[in-house]
Amino acid sequence: MIKHALNVTREADFAAWYQAVISEADLAEESGVRGCMVIRPWGYGIWERIQRLLDDRIKATGHENCYFPLFIPLSYFEKEAEHVDGFAKEMAVVTHHRLIQKDGRLVPDPEAKLEEPLVVRPTSETVIGAAFSRWIQSWRDLPVLINQWANVVRWEMRTRMFLRTSEFLWQEGHTAHASEAEAREETLKMLEVYRSFAEDCLAMPVVAGEKPENERFPGAVSTYSIEAMMQDGKALQAGTSHFLGTTFSTAQNIKFQNAEGELELAQTTSWGVSTRMIGGVIMVHGDDDGLRVPPRIAPWQIVIVPMLRDQPEDQAIVDYCKTLQQELAALSAFGEPVRALLDLRPAKAATKRWGWVKKGAPIVIEVGGRDVAGGNVSVIRRDRLYREDGKLDSAVVPRGQLVDEATQMLESIQQGLHTQARERMDANIRRDITDFATLEKAFDGAKPGWVEVSWSKPGGAELDKVVERLKALKLTFRNVPNDVVADGGTCIFTGAPAVERIVVARAY
Ligand code: AMP
Repeated sequence: MIKHALNVTREADFAAWYQAVISEADLAEESGVRGCMVIRPWGYGIWERIQRLLDDRIKATGHENCYFPLFIPLSYFEKEAEHVDGFAKEMAVVTHHRLIQKDGRLVPDPEAKLEEPLVVRPTSETVIGAAFSRWIQSWRDLPVLINQWANVVRWEMRTRMFLRTSEFLWQEGHTAHASEAEAREETLKMLEVYRSFAEDCLAMPVVAGEKPENERFPGAVSTYSIEAMMQDGKALQAGTSHFLGTTFSTAQNIKFQNAEGELELAQTTSWGVSTRMIGGVIMVHGDDDGLRVPPRIAPWQIVIVPMLRDQPEDQAIVDYCKTLQQELAALSAFGEPVRALLDLRPAKAATKRWGWVKKGAPIVIEVGGRDVAGGNVSVIRRDRLYREDGKLDSAVVPRGQLVDEATQMLESIQQGLHTQARERMDANIRRDITDFATLEKAFDGAKPGWVEVSWSKPGGAELDKVVERLKALKLTFRNVPNDVVADGGTCIFTGAPAVERIVVARAY
């Protein structure tokens, strides 16, 4: 039996395994404030890669970055009732701007109470809407297409690192358009940017579709999401794109004069993905030896570990590794320079090797005296760590061959992780269920997947009833996949004629 690097397996306890990966891969740690985490360099390096790749795509679709304040006056929220209802329970509020000493303790100074409390932004529709109302006067000012990278705060009751934190990092896109058709097109365009980004860069297959009414963003007319399947079969909403109609333009008075000279309300959208994506990457690609980072988002794609022995020969090994690092860094993969690190930290080679395995560096290269003498390197691919006999698969190859093949190897690891995740997801979506009892049974087991069923798209109180019924089984509606056509039949919840197919799952 293989002795794995983590002391808990996915099979034994998925939740404990997830926490073990986060700590053993040095991704993040608790901060002392509930729900807020310290993101360590390896975790933050992955976030920086996500930011860079996604930012390029956001800009390539015509958006510009900008920055809005962290604090939003309370009155901005009061203008939009539904939005407030959705977020009021999770808002952190600043009420004072000074502390004083009282009985040996620091307390807010009653003299320094803010006239109007400030909300730490949970999302920025209101403050950006206020700016839009200043920026937009005429149809010539439209569309406005902006994005910001920022932190937001939502006082979540049940938190879990990366997946649901009280403070998280994200990007939020906000746009305003002259027509509903154009705003709807934008909403779907950004959903597609998220879908292809998740698949191409995170190697994370997703289902893109529209959320049912009960799962809409507070204030949205339509909400779309990408949903990914974790290895325990649960769903993770990995990104959302909202068509907001005139909800926020009404509240914030975003009006423009159209070509005919009449005043019209602008149509707005918003869309976001967060550090939650890192949680998704862990739960999709991690294994019992830790994380496996898809090469496109790996801070270091190739790590060279010299096997030093405190001997005079060490210098030759280090020199050999330095040249190798330069040769690898001169290559490119995925249209970017290869990120190759020479790990010269004063630790034992085996400790470093397992450290990088747990962190999930795609390729680890070990170089000892014998490798130098033979002109070779020892290569470990993180996507296939063990041979069939259970031994670590470390292949000795000529150094020139490794350099020749490194680009292709990274691309094949990226592709392999995607294929593996895609096959797992496809194998775990059931599409044959036509009655509620069977649906219930499908979620009996320890590791249920998803179920896609026909439904009649009920709304209002009728939908609420269905949602309650699912909730009793700890189930939720995920989305109505964009690329699936309803095939007639009847709704398994209402018995009425079905109009759509919808995904039901347990979710994070
Ligand atoms: P929303 O503005 O609610 O549509 O959220 C946009 C995206 O942010 C969601 O699709 C999630 O991926 C992510 N997100 C929402 N809440 C949290 C949270 N508490 N922690 C981390 N990510 C979150």
